[in-house]
Amino acid sequence: MTFIPPSYTRHYNNMAKSAGKCAVCGADLTFKYRPMDGWNVSGFICGTCYSQKLLEHYIEPDRRGITKR
Ligand SMILES: [Zn+2]
Repeated sequence: MTFIPPSYTRHYNNMAKSAGKCAVCGADLTFKYRPMDGWNVSGFICGTCYSQKLLEHYIEPDRRGITKR
């Protein structure tokens, strides 16, 4: 017989709940991304918003520089 203490399952549930919500769009986080300094985002964000922010902060300025004539 394997004895599983009740605190183990409680701890597991707490961990699942503490994943939190995206600081940008409010979606439940299955995977947390840490926003970079300068994004003005506090807390963790989802993968969608992370790639969106990357686009805004790193790809857009480059593209603007190229298309600017
Ligand atoms: Zn998000």
